[in-house]
Formats: sequence, C-alpha cells, structure tokens
Amino acid sequence: MPYPSDRLDTPRFLASDNTSGICPQALEYLLRANDTDDLAYGNDRWTALASDRFRTLFETDCEVFFVFNGTAANSLSLAALCQPYHSVICHQLAHIETDECGGPEFFSNGSKLLTVPGDMGRIGPDHIERTVTRRNDIHYPRPKVVSLTQASELGTVYDPDALRAIREVADRHALRLHMDGARFANACAGLDLAPAELSWRAGIDVLTFSGTKNGLAFGEAVIFFDRELARDFDYRCKQAGQLASKMRYLSAPWLGLLETGAWLDNARHANAMAQRLAAGVQHLDGVKLMFPVEANSVFLELAPAVQQSLRDERWTFYTFIGEGGVRFVCGWNTTAELIDRLIADLSHALSMA
Ligand SMILES: *Cc1c(COP(=O)(O)O)cnc(C)c1O
Repeated sequence: MPYPSDRLDTPRFLASDNTSGICPQALEYLLRANDTDDLAYGNDRWTALASDRFRTLFETDCEVFFVFNGTAANSLSLAALCQPYHSVICHQLAHIETDECGGPEFFSNGSKLLTVPGDMGRIGPDHIERTVTRRNDIHYPRPKVVSLTQASELGTVYDPDALRAIREVADRHALRLHMDGARFANACAGLDLAPAELSWRAGIDVLTFSGTKNGLAFGEAVIFFDRELARDFDYRCKQAGQLASKMRYLSAPWLGLLETGAWLDNARHANAMAQRLAAGVQHLDGVKLMFPVEANSVFLELAPAVQQSLRDERWTFYTFIGEGGVRFVCGWNTTAELIDRLIADLSHALSMA
C-alpha cells in the first residue's frame, strides 16, 4: 500500500500551519517519554519538567496547564476569568467568535462575546473604551475580559506598545487580558522579542500558547501569569474532558520544543517562508498583498480565475478566513522550494488570465 505522500497528485499544503506533521524534536521527546512508564494525570516527570521550562522561558512563576486543542484552551481560560453575566471584548474576526462553535459561551455558562472592529485584525484601546462605556446598566453583560489574538487572524502582530496601551484601558475598567496565542511563537519571532515582553510584562493575565501550529501533533499550554486566576482550573479541565491521563505524551513533546529552542526556530522558519512568498508575489500584476506580513500568514487578493488555476495545480488555501482573499500559511516544514513553486505557478496563472 503506498502512503498518501507517495502519490504524484499530492496536494501542496499551505492552507494552514496545522497541515504539517510533528517536528523532529517533538517526536524525539515523545519517543523518549515512551521509554518508561510514569504516573498519570500530569503527575509524571515530563509534565513537571515542561512546566518548569515554561517558567524559565517566561521568566516568571506562572501556572501551566496542558490541554488538547486551542478551542478548549481558549474556552476554558475565558470561563475561568468570567462569571456567566460577564462579557468578553474581542475582534469581530477573532477565532473565539468565528471558529469555536460557541465554545467560550458554552464553557463559561453564557458569558457573551462583544465583538469590535479594528484595522488589520487588531483591536485598539479606543474600541475597548467605547464598548465598556457605551452601557453600564444592569441590562448589559458586564465587560470583564479583553481577548487579543497574537499573531492576529490577519497575520499582523500586537507590539508591546500596543499591548500596554490596551492594558492601560483595561486597568481603568478592571478588565482582564486574555491572549489567544495560536501563533504566539510566530509573533515572538516576528518582533524578535522574548515571550515575557509580549505577555505578562505587557499586561497579559492568561495566555494560550499553541504547540500544534508550532510542530506538535497536538497540545496547547494554558499559562496563567496571575496564579490566583488559576484556582481550580485543574477541575475545569477535568470536567471538560481535557485532562489527559497519559499527560506525558502532551508535555514531553512540549519539552522537546522548549529545551531545544525548536519553538523559536520553527516559528522563525515559518515566518521567513511567508516573507519569501510575499516578496516573490507582491510586485506581480494582478496580485494585491492585503495585509503586512508580520508572522507566518500571507493574504492575497487574486481574481477567481487565478484562484482556480492554483487549485488546478493542487495548491491548498482558505478563502473564508478574515476579510476574504486567499490565505497561505507557512509552517515549520514549509520549504523554500515549495514557496518558489507557488510563486512560479502564480506568475504563470496571472500571465494566462
Ligand atoms: C488554530 C487556531 C486556534 C485553535 O484551534 P483548534 O482547532 O481548536 O486547535 C485558536 N485561535 C486561532 C487564532 C487559531 O488560528
């Protein structure tokens, strides 16, 4: 039986950074964790080591939890910050609003998401201010949290100044800051800043840090910088079916990413491939780069016929994310060869259109 990848008509994957496989460092640690038995439910040595490694990386004594995916990480961490009568301010394109099937509302028992617009996928302090001060009567779900996506759904990033400006409004209105870090590593790489600078030092209370999009098979870390907010979070994870009994298979690959520095190398590589793509296509007639490329996603405006030519050449991409357009996302294993091939195919498709 040939493997799917042996087939000549294999698609060319740039649809998302979760089409990639497991990176070698994560796989190596996964296999090491398989060498011996260990305690269950997170009481194993790998989970302790990985949690400590997060504390080293973030230069602070944070609380760390491992869950299976990003929807759970976001939903449960938001639920930990809210009562059911509270609300969460987020961008109208935020994954928690558009792609989590109501998970945050469900797990918080009804906390409402209040969506706001914002240029380039980012919320500004003024959006928050307006949303909080618009109403303060008993009939309105009381704003309690601001959720920011880093890197944003449009591939842009919040720099520390932007985060601190948001923290300042949040402080005035006693709001907590949640960060959906599905591409947090790519933001650190893009801005060349340490994780602490883009999280607690800039006022973030809780971060969900994706391993899946960085090179793991699955697994996200939920990181509480304010330990008080993490109270009973372990029970919340268990009730939601997110407590892995063989936790070491989630945490050991994370340790592989952190201990070897692969988390950053993978993100830097993915970002570099996105830059290569943007540089190769942005001056072509018939292509419009929709947003600045600050992480690992590239959004292009392309005529429908050109999109079809690319599909005919087996390129995979999404057109339903963000504000439309064609989204290409690079991962840890995206090759320069693949990107150059796309640039060539796109040039060809444009010349035929
Ligand atoms: C991928 C992604 C998530 C997590 O999605 P899951 O499929 O639940 O793991 C969360 N937020 C953003 C912005 C994402 O792109």
